[in-house]
Amino acid sequence: MKHLPIFLDIKDRPVLVVGGGELAARKVESVLKAEARITVVAEDLCQTLQDMAEKGSLEHQARAFDDGDIAGVDLVFVATEDEDLNRRVSSLSQDAGVPVNVVDRIDLCTFIMPALIDRSPMLVAVSSGGDAPIIARVLKARLETFIPAGLGRLAEFAGACRDRVKDAIPEGPLRLRFWEHFIHGPIAEYILAGQEEAAGNLLDETLASAGESGDITSRGEVYLVGSGPGDPDLLTFRALRLMQQADVVLHDRLVTDDIMELVRKDAERIFVGKRRGDHAMPQEEISQLMVRLAKEGKRVLRLKSGDPFVFGRGGEEIDVLSSEGIHFQVVPGVTAANGCAAYAGIPLTHRDHAQSCVFVTGHAKDDQLDLDWPMLVRPSQTLVVYMGLDSLPMLTEKLIAHGADPKTPAAIVDNGTRPGQRVVTAPLEDLARRAREEDLPGPSIIIVGSVVTLRDRLSWFKPFPG
Ligand code: SAH
Repeated sequence: MKHLPIFLDIKDRPVLVVGGGELAARKVESVLKAEARITVVAEDLCQTLQDMAEKGSLEHQARAFDDGDIAGVDLVFVATEDEDLNRRVSSLSQDAGVPVNVVDRIDLCTFIMPALIDRSPMLVAVSSGGDAPIIARVLKARLETFIPAGLGRLAEFAGACRDRVKDAIPEGPLRLRFWEHFIHGPIAEYILAGQEEAAGNLLDETLASAGESGDITSRGEVYLVGSGPGDPDLLTFRALRLMQQADVVLHDRLVTDDIMELVRKDAERIFVGKRRGDHAMPQEEISQLMVRLAKEGKRVLRLKSGDPFVFGRGGEEIDVLSSEGIHFQVVPGVTAANGCAAYAGIPLTHRDHAQSCVFVTGHAKDDQLDLDWPMLVRPSQTLVVYMGLDSLPMLTEKLIAHGADPKTPAAIVDNGTRPGQRVVTAPLEDLARRAREEDLPGPSIIIVGSVVTLRDRLSWFKPFPG
């Protein structure tokens, strides 16, 4: 180990910064977060430092560095372009036994600054010891995506209730179990979701029952998670985190294998979708299964394609969960319309083409499509039809019968955002015939409107140019 990582308490302690440029400003910003008392010695200050000086965040001494400046300070930072000065400040600091950091000159430093993931009070420091700052930065970026933004709040909450937990559960091993449930269960999830009041109520409840029975029953919960249209890169950070902590996952047909790969390896998997020729599990049964599993204390991941609240029956599921008093959270996902449009190069709205966009389901009931046709054929509007492939002939016919121009540009995006993505474009009157010819496997969405022409006019990076 080249350096000893330590976390220094420098609140209200004197820190000297020599140099007034942007590099000095970066250091000052970090040190200010630890609430040190900063003096900057420099003839001139850059705008950032000037602003800080005006706000009273630092003291500026507009003059050249003086050897006596080092006396009595806890840390020294040097960021000047004067090589001799950098050396001189470094050696004076070392002689005086004051830790010194010279920007970009590791040979003149007695300490270095790590890349930081700041979820105060939680801190993760990453360092390559000066050998490869780029690797430290890449690692930091990965950790940033992995560590929830609300982790600091969680740590603060845990800190604030430590004594109460100790009083309610005096027995050590039982208390450890409590903390394990706390961190992996609904209390922590409420805090990460910014619902501190709900977390507080649940904590009260849990501690009261632990006090009575001496036991902490683990509480189940449900994560209703949108997994996007298929490309795993479109998952949200929260979706991924919950996928990796669930005990059991209920998934349906449109959730791809690539996405299922990212679910915790030892989680139980229950397929609740429809396979060819087979029947899907009825909605009521799925809801009851979630309730039962959560009541057994499991963390249940209900993984949906796209967004749970867009033709996803998410509303019905949370209705059942809330009436049964099950804790749950809903995580939005990229809905098929957004994902497919972006990957097919079709903007859903555009100043010159469409000022509104309507999502409808083309799922026919008793071979009938019961839709508000006059509303769907309005001008300057993009229409997106989910689940419309089977009813496409009827759909296009009805739109035209209600006044849509038969030449209206239209597109089918099949397997959008996935490696097999295909895009078929045709005037509305030909779309059903073209779909038949192409024999699309689905899932597909249909986009109708003049925005479709932009696909050929605009050239940009399309991940799967179908
Ligand atoms: N909740 C989902 C929609 C579920 S309904 C969402 O927000 O996207 C299922 C329909 O979504 C399919 O019939 C199809 O119309 C559309 N769909 C889902 N994934 C798709 C994909 N990768 N490509 C094209 N259409 C898709």
